[in-house]
Amino acid sequence: MRFARFDLLGRVLEVREGDFGDHLVLIDGRVVSHKSMGFWVGGSSHFFELTSEEGEKLHIEVQVRGWRFRFTPAFLLADGAEMAALELVSRRHMQRRCPYCVYSLVGLTVENDEVKCPECGRHSSLAVLGLKKGAKIVPRHARDLGA
Ligand SMILES: [Zn+2]
Repeated sequence: MRFARFDLLGRVLEVREGDFGDHLVLIDGRVVSHKSMGFWVGGSSHFFELTSEEGEKLHIEVQVRGWRFRFTPAFLLADGAEMAALELVSRRHMQRRCPYCVYSLVGLTVENDEVKCPECGRHSSLAVLGLKKGAKIVPRHARDLGA
C-alpha cells in the first residue's frame, strides 16, 4: 500500500492506493471517497466538501494521477485551486518523511507534538506522521513507532 497524509484544516487527510489498485481518501480515519479501479484506469478523482473551523465550506478535490516507480503522484485542490502536491509512498517510507517535501525527518526532535521540517520549514503533527502522541524523537525503524 502507498499513502500520503496531509494536514487539512486541522484534520488528517489521507490518500491511499491499495495493493489491488483501489484509491481511497480518508478524513480523520473515515473514508470519504473510494474508487475501486483507480490504479487500473490510470488515476482517479475524488470530490467532497469540508467545513473549516470558521464554518466555511470548501470543495475539496483529490486527483490521483497514474503511478511512478517510487511514488504515486496526487494533487489536492480546494475550491479549484491547487493546495498541495502529494506523493503516495509505501508506509515504511513515509512515516519518517515530511509530507510536504518528502525530506527525511529521522532523528529530529518533536516539539509540542510537531516536527519542523529542516528542508521546507513546515510543521507536521505527530498524527500526520503516524506517530504516537508523546514521542520525543522521530524513530528510524517502523517497529519503533509503536503504531
Ligand atoms: Zn518538508
